[in-house]
Amino acid sequence: MSHSTTLTERQSIVLDALSHHAGPASAYALLEYLQGASGLKAPQQIYRVLDKLLELGLVHRIESLNAFVACDQPHHDHTRGLILLAICDQCGRVDESSDAAVERGLQRWASQHTFQMGGVSIEIHGTCGECAAHPG
Ligand SMILES: [Zn+2]
Ligand SMILES: [Zn+2]
Repeated sequence: MSHSTTLTERQSIVLDALSHHAGPASAYALLEYLQGASGLKAPQQIYRVLDKLLELGLVHRIESLNAFVACDQPHHDHTRGLILLAICDQCGRVDESSDAAVERGLQRWASQHTFQMGGVSIEIHGTCGECAAHPG
């Protein structure tokens, strides 16, 4: 998938806001942050833009937080394969990665269950290294 896709003004504004947001942001937090930039004033408008960015693989939804993060590995093909999202419950940072061994394990599971696996994202809650090293 090519990411040289030209984004609309709204898409780039929202993506930019997400990239600068520390940790995941809800649609409402984005709305507040943007303060009506590019005419984005209603949550439905933000959701429409986010849907497109999700489709392009530039943004990920964190289901458990009902929030969004900008993809930090946009060169990866997210339409198949695995995304691991490590969410720190202390500081809220999200680290995105993938793991070939976990992915192989899931593929084995999928063939055992005759299940056609699409994209997988796994949200892992816990404490990041930074917070573990400096509690409080
Ligand atoms: Zn990503
Ligand atoms: Zn942390």
